[in-house]
Amino acid sequence: MEIKSVGVIGAGQMGNGIAHVMALAGYDVRLNDVRQEALDQAVALITRNLDRQVSREKISAHERDTALARIKTTLDISAVGETDLVVEAATEREDVKHKIFESLGPHLRPNTILTSNTSSISITRLASRTDRPEKFMGFHFMNPVPVMQLVELIRGIATDQPTYQACLTVVNRLGKTAASAEDFPAFIVNRILIPMINEAVYTLYEGVGNVKSIDMAMKLGANHPMGPLELADFIGLDTCLAIMNVLHDGLADTKYRPCPLLTKYVEAGWLGRKTQRGFYDYRGDEPVPTR
Ligand code: NAD
Repeated sequence: MEIKSVGVIGAGQMGNGIAHVMALAGYDVRLNDVRQEALDQAVALITRNLDRQVSREKISAHERDTALARIKTTLDISAVGETDLVVEAATEREDVKHKIFESLGPHLRPNTILTSNTSSISITRLASRTDRPEKFMGFHFMNPVPVMQLVELIRGIATDQPTYQACLTVVNRLGKTAASAEDFPAFIVNRILIPMINEAVYTLYEGVGNVKSIDMAMKLGANHPMGPLELADFIGLDTCLAIMNVLHDGLADTKYRPCPLLTKYVEAGWLGRKTQRGFYDYRGDEPVPTR
């Protein structure tokens, strides 16, 4: 089935990026949130980001204008049910996501494909509570969406091939690349990336190196564009901890135990860039290591 319209649920950090790339690729977008403020902020941010792409000559002013015209915002979830593909990108809480799919259910067209951008919740479990587990997939964008090339496509146990194929066609039309993953905790990227970050925090915790030497070692020694602690601050330390807990609980292996120092930073509310303090302190002109 051909996808022409896309419903995006949740207009936060990820939802606005998803609406942006979908509209630019020519899909009609319905962007939904429970807060009008989130919708207003998302449209303002999408406009700014499209303007930046115009000034860098990545897109034309006409492409920006037509993309913006394709995005309609709504507080009413029933409007999302009329689209061909739904990408749920609301708050990472399983009860919130179950409620969203429950309230969307009665408004869905028979062929609408449902997907979730979840970083860690089981696709199979989310799908099992809908009327169409065979038309349900994980559609996992990376942050920031307009910049990052990869999308992980995650099949639940019941996902059928036409659904997978339809999502793959969308990824290709976005000019992005899909990696297909099976539905196990944290999928591929976070399964590998977040334990590496956790190990960097253990390296700090055990005094093997300080923040600066650990980040420099991985940048110059492993050719990573960002050090693991700098990257953790960018992702959010609460998110890193939540994903470690999903791996620990879901795979029941002690090798995934979250580092106590990571827990301590989260308890302090030092969550990284978003709170201006994490492994670095961002309150001055230059980031200063906190250990
Ligand atoms: P966010 O907090 O920036 O945005 C979440 C939005 O969802 C908010 O605007 C909130 O008002 C809205 N929301 C809450 N309940 C809702 C409901 N019932 N209906 C509609 N909207 C609702 O979060 P985010 O970082 O954009 O993450 C969204 C999803 O994307 C999560 O599942 C997360 O795991 C996933 N994800 C995040 C990243 C990342 O780096 N932030 C990367 C990949 C995937």
